[in-house]
Parts: sequence; structure tokens; C-alpha cells
Amino acid sequence: MPEEPSIVILKEEALPLKGKEIINVSGNSKIEYHQLQNKTIIDFKSWGKHFLVCCKGITLRVHFMLFGSYRINERKAVPPRLSLQFKDGELNFYACSVKLFHEDPDEIYDWETDVMNDAWDASKAKKKLKLIPHTIVADALLDQNIFAGVGNIIKNEVLWRIKLHPKTQIGEIPVKKLNELIKEARNYSFDFLKWKKAFVLKKHWCIHTKKICPRCNIPAQKEYVGRTNRRTLFCNNCQVLYE
Ligand SMILES: [Zn+2]
Repeated sequence: MPEEPSIVILKEEALPLKGKEIINVSGNSKIEYHQLQNKTIIDFKSWGKHFLVCCKGITLRVHFMLFGSYRINERKAVPPRLSLQFKDGELNFYACSVKLFHEDPDEIYDWETDVMNDAWDASKAKKKLKLIPHTIVADALLDQNIFAGVGNIIKNEVLWRIKLHPKTQIGEIPVKKLNELIKEARNYSFDFLKWKKAFVLKKHWCIHTKKICPRCNIPAQKEYVGRTNRRTLFCNNCQVLYE
């Protein structure tokens, strides 16, 4: 599943299509996509793992789920879920979930919850975390209502970076460490973006997919933890379990 930095890259790559009119729409999606015909794109936005194609009075929301992908001015060999045609370009989406809505995106999305948005509000995240003291931090980081955009890679790397054990309950984390967690969720997302653009993201992984903790030089742990049950890589030695 693409984490938000990948969606931010798509947003940047699609930018030349901003201001262009959609002259034809096709695809195997069952949404009423003809409503996008002859609409002009006024903006591309992202909220967490959602990519938004905004036109006047209507917005297309794309969620890439597990296997979704896209091509700009290129096509894959498989039929697109949705294909937007322009006079001199095209935007194709594959194996993703698409939806149309007519409300103003500002009414639907809380930009302050989005870790990569300028409007990101760390204090709001902190307030929400205080309401779930018994949730383990590995689950809390993946909660899109608190940290929209954070995915499993960011989760593993942030926890290793701040030396926090993934099974620590939120209520047990010292205040200073909690502030660090919130700060790094955003910081690491921008590092991810920078490294992914330079094609060096994997090279910078410290614990995600690793067999050895590079700080301790001992075997890393791999477990499927919490109610999210996602693959979690961590080090039992340097990542502190607060109890
Ligand atoms: Zn370690």
C-alpha cells in the first residue's frame, strides 16, 4: 500500500495536467464517471493515502489499496480502473478504489490530521492519543484519524529512530517521548519523500525488512502485532518497552 509520500510524488507528477479539461473518461469502474467529462481540473490534493482530483463541483478520490498503481501519459497492459483523457495527455489508474463526491473537500477532510500537510497540527494528534491510553503505539501510528498518511514502513522506522518498543501502550509513554513520536511521524515522512524521489529509499531503511539491528548488531525481531496485525520489525535491546 503506498504511504503518503508516494501520493505526494504522484501529486507533483500530475501537476502539468492542472488547469486541463478532461475530454474523455473510460475504465472498468462502476462509478458514474461520465460526470467528469468536460470538467477542468482545478487542483490535485492528497490526504493521507487518498489522492484527490478536484474539479469545480466534483472530486474524484483515488485510494490505491494494496495493489493500486498509476501511469501518466503511459499505459499498462491491463485495463484501467479509470482513464482520464486530455487534449495532450492522460492519467490512468489501475487496481485502485475510486469514488466521486460533490462536497467541498475542505468539508470532508481534516487537513490538520495529515502528517504531510502544511496544516498538520501536532497538538491535535497529542489530544487524540491521550484518549487511547491502552492502545499500543504500533496500532496508534497506523490510525489514519490521528496520523493520516503513515503506513507500515514509516511506523517501523519511526519507532526504531526514537528507540520506542512497538508494544508500548500510549498511556505509558513519557511525555517527552510522546512529543518525539509525533514530531518524527512527520519528519520521517519527509525523509521518505526525499529518499524515494532520489530512488534511495530502501538504502535508508534501518529496521524495516532488516534481520539485524544496525545500532546493536544483534538480530531484529519480526512480529505481527496489535489489532492492525501488520509486520513489525524492531529491536528488543534498544527500543524501550515502557510499563
Ligand atoms: Zn537495537
